[in-house]
Amino acid sequence: MTEKLLRDIEYNYKTIEERISEAALKAGKKREDITFLAATKTVDPEAINYAISLGLRYIGENKVQELLSKYDFYDLENASLQFIGHLQSNKVRQIVGKVDLIQSVDSVKLAREVSKQSVKNNVNTDILIEVNIGGEESKSGTEPERLVELLDEIKDFENISVKGLMCIPPICDSQQKILNFFSKMNNIFIDISGKKIDNISMDILSMGMSADYYEAILSGATMVRVGSSLFGARNYQA
Ligand SMILES: *Cc1c(COP(=O)(O)O)cnc(C)c1O
Repeated sequence: MTEKLLRDIEYNYKTIEERISEAALKAGKKREDITFLAATKTVDPEAINYAISLGLRYIGENKVQELLSKYDFYDLENASLQFIGHLQSNKVRQIVGKVDLIQSVDSVKLAREVSKQSVKNNVNTDILIEVNIGGEESKSGTEPERLVELLDEIKDFENISVKGLMCIPPICDSQQKILNFFSKMNNIFIDISGKKIDNISMDILSMGMSADYYEAILSGATMVRVGSSLFGARNYQA
């Protein structure tokens, strides 16, 4: 790693920290109410661990293969590893026991498999339910209208704990549109919290990425997932 890359990561880390603190205060919360998770796809473990040495405590990968190939190199003494990408049921067994939380559970089938593999490995796996807030055909996530039913079906599954919701809104051509999705998502989050479903907690609302994490926090996010603003533009060729 070059000296310049390290300096960039340090500068970016501090800048993001400051903006998260500012947004938290503006939202009437404290800095510690917001979790800063770094999306680490395409990023070298060395660069990830440098960010951890600066204080980063949560990292997230979105591909099973990449997570497994980097797994032995992360500094997991000092950071929690999560899975944030689309997950196929047949790959669940490869990551259960390795990740602390899976953000992208969107079906009964997938939840059942996470439960089954968690029982087998004698671990508990925290999960978030991914919501397809934009109603896009091509996107994963459960439809908002199906959410309560889904939670009801999985609430008694063994060795999994639902901790909240996650979304990836559609790419928007205006700030207002993205804010509408965030606020729709926050309303769903509050609504479900109020229902007090057994074994389901609504502590985490994971939304907001590099371009919009500040706005997401103002709209109720308790966790943001930031990649390129921290590590620089991704180079998929590397
Ligand atoms: C890559 C990724 C992010 C972060 O994206 P940036 O725009 O680089 O901040 C967040 N969430 C998920 C699920 C991702 O795959």
